[in-house]
Amino acid sequence: MQTQKKLPQLAISLTDDCNYKCYYCRPSGSSVNKCTQNLPFEEFVRLLSIAYRKGYRVFRITGGEPILRPDLVDIIKAINSLGNDTTILLGTNGTLLGDYIGEFKKYSNLKFFVGLDSINKSHKGLPKGITQKLYNNLSDLSKSNFVRINMLVLNSNKEDVWDMISFCSSLKIDLKLHDLYYCEKILDTIHSSEEFFDKEYYNVNQLIPSLSKRAKKISKYPENASDCGIPMMSFNIDGINVIIKDSLKGSYYNSGCKSCSMYPCLHGLYCPIIESNGTLQPSNCINKKFHKLIAHQSMDEVEKAFDFVYSVINNSKFETIDESSLNANKRVQNIDLVSKVINEKHGCDLPCTQRVSRALQSV
Ligand code: SF4
Ligand code: SF4
Repeated sequence: MQTQKKLPQLAISLTDDCNYKCYYCRPSGSSVNKCTQNLPFEEFVRLLSIAYRKGYRVFRITGGEPILRPDLVDIIKAINSLGNDTTILLGTNGTLLGDYIGEFKKYSNLKFFVGLDSINKSHKGLPKGITQKLYNNLSDLSKSNFVRINMLVLNSNKEDVWDMISFCSSLKIDLKLHDLYYCEKILDTIHSSEEFFDKEYYNVNQLIPSLSKRAKKISKYPENASDCGIPMMSFNIDGINVIIKDSLKGSYYNSGCKSCSMYPCLHGLYCPIIESNGTLQPSNCINKKFHKLIAHQSMDEVEKAFDFVYSVINNSKFETIDESSLNANKRVQNIDLVSKVINEKHGCDLPCTQRVSRALQSV
């Protein structure tokens, strides 16, 4: 008998808009589909209150840049009024934090996840770098609320990892090092997604030996307490937790994933997300058969949609990913041949990583 998985967090993408245009980002931020009109405040609140009744207690607010949404503080207030047992996680690039810090500090259950790719000022090309204003905001906020920095490790900034650890340690904030997530469309206008991935992908696994040497303690990172998503490791170094998220570790997949063109995608199944256009789906999953439109639907329909998406996640099993099939050089060398095979076998001329890897196996 399959054991029941713990109810995961619920992500909510408030908007696709962002004040940054990071070249590695999707045109729609965290959302899978570009949204032209964000859900109104009242509809978000209605959907979140149904989610609360279904048992969700951890709400992760994401975007785009959620601080651009003028009613963000009201949405935080509304989540807090659902009950006194909620936790709110806010993902942000941090640039606009200063305008709201006083307001945010009122909520001890509000945790911040700030994207920062470098503290090295010579890295002018990296979209998310440190500024004096951001440093002041991080320093101020970390005294009252939990703050973690999420650093995307690329070939361009891999040398900065230890400076970033010292920086986080000086502020006593945790650090997550994660690898490049492959998207079929990115904002980079110079490279295709495939070229960009080949140029910048860095396997964060390579950091493990040096992190292990410096760590006082190594443990499984509890973000996976919900038993889905990619397993992560945490290294206690200089008083902070340094977390590694390596997409090649494997993830959780449902039997329905097997017929998906992206299988095995680099994220697998984890928490549900309400996208800014009002679709409920397992986070980042492009497979429309796992998507349900919940905006402006009856309470009964919305509840059924929550049950459906949870059942997709709950009926998933962990599978490892074959690293050799994702070997970048192999993909580059065989790109023409692979494109041909993809066209013939899958009727698609977009060589995304997963299709390429499967096509390579069949060459
Ligand atoms: S700050 Fe985040 S959402 Fe905005 S463009 Fe960069 S990666 Fe995308
Ligand atoms: S995109 Fe969705 S359906 Fe496809 S493999 Fe990934 S999680 Fe499964």
